[in-house]
Amino acid sequence: MQRYVQNLLNAYACKFASAISFTVILLLFCSGCAVAAAVCWGVGEPLKVEEIQVEPPKFSEIRVKVLCASLCHTDALYGKGFLIPLFPRVLGHEGVGVVESIGEGVRDLKEGDLVIPAYLGECQECENCMSGKTNLCLKYPLILNGLMPDGTSRMSINGQKLYHLFTCSTWSEYMVIDTNYVVKIDPSIDLSHASFLSCGFSTGFGSAWREANVEKGSSVAVIGLGAVGLGAIEGARMQGATKIIGVDKNEKKREKGQAFGMTDFINADEYFNRPISELIKDMTGGLGVDYCFECTGVGPLINEALLATKPGKGETFIVGAGTHQTVSIDFLPLLCGGTLKGSIFGGLQIKSHLPILLDKCKNKEFNLDELLTHQVMLEDINKAFQLLQQEDCLKVLINM
Ligand SMILES: [Zn+2]
Ligand SMILES: [Zn+2]
Repeated sequence: MQRYVQNLLNAYACKFASAISFTVILLLFCSGCAVAAAVCWGVGEPLKVEEIQVEPPKFSEIRVKVLCASLCHTDALYGKGFLIPLFPRVLGHEGVGVVESIGEGVRDLKEGDLVIPAYLGECQECENCMSGKTNLCLKYPLILNGLMPDGTSRMSINGQKLYHLFTCSTWSEYMVIDTNYVVKIDPSIDLSHASFLSCGFSTGFGSAWREANVEKGSSVAVIGLGAVGLGAIEGARMQGATKIIGVDKNEKKREKGQAFGMTDFINADEYFNRPISELIKDMTGGLGVDYCFECTGVGPLINEALLATKPGKGETFIVGAGTHQTVSIDFLPLLCGGTLKGSIFGGLQIKSHLPILLDKCKNKEFNLDELLTHQVMLEDINKAFQLLQQEDCLKVLINM
């Protein structure tokens, strides 16, 4: 697949070849042609890889040939009907692809550009974008109704509307996305790395960098060492934290955490019923850490994260998405000055901050090869969910 992209890009480098290759793509993919996509028909049902129709891009949109995608825990949550059960739906929000065609009004992207999707935009002029306090743009917001910003879908199956996931749907050979929700990437970036940076790893990294702005010399604990947690460790390391404690129930995560800068590891399963907050305090002279990041999305662990921080000045960040509608929080740590803060996409703004991460990736500052443990073809997408349950699994790459 890498060779395919290289070939494609080489082709685009030459104007004459570009015309030929693009014509080939157009011949292969006229509007109305069927493409393969993983469709989820109902709550918790296995996905079915079927032929769907993907419409041409409309105003401000691009159609992207997805080169590879990856599986994030949030996909599994949406497959179970999380937030709003919308079916049939094409899941997938991590991925990377090449722009196949552009809609009217698209100026900053062209056919052949490589892009990654994002689920938040950044207009740089709304109240939220201007505030410097949040990445939740008001003009290009988080879209949860499974449709494009204009309220319609670009995908269908036998005439029936298919819902998108956020503003994309990467588990499809082609996807249509609004250009306000994509980031162009350098062709030298490894495709799997680009896919991982489109959500999980960046979310964790951003939470330590942008949300917490971890101070040099501070102590940090990260609960849950998936791609998000490992990103938080990397972010804390870059910010100069001196003690970075990783917590997980999977012993195989010890080595992974160390690869990203973790200094201490707690295997919570080795301590039976002792609360995680106490285990973290034991490692920090009884006081707790300066910053704690909850990356599992398991409701009760949010309180554990809060209790694991220093009295009065500890800061706790909710990073992992979960299904608990409400959680129980101890009152006293907050009353005494502690901070509990939520975060989406690690507080990253896609135009201001994501290019910085992509540059670091290009310069090999991130050890992202450590994340890639398994690969499947799109037709074996259900296997990806099984693999995710395995101890040695971190990220599953989905090849098209
Ligand atoms: Zn905005
Ligand atoms: Zn995600």
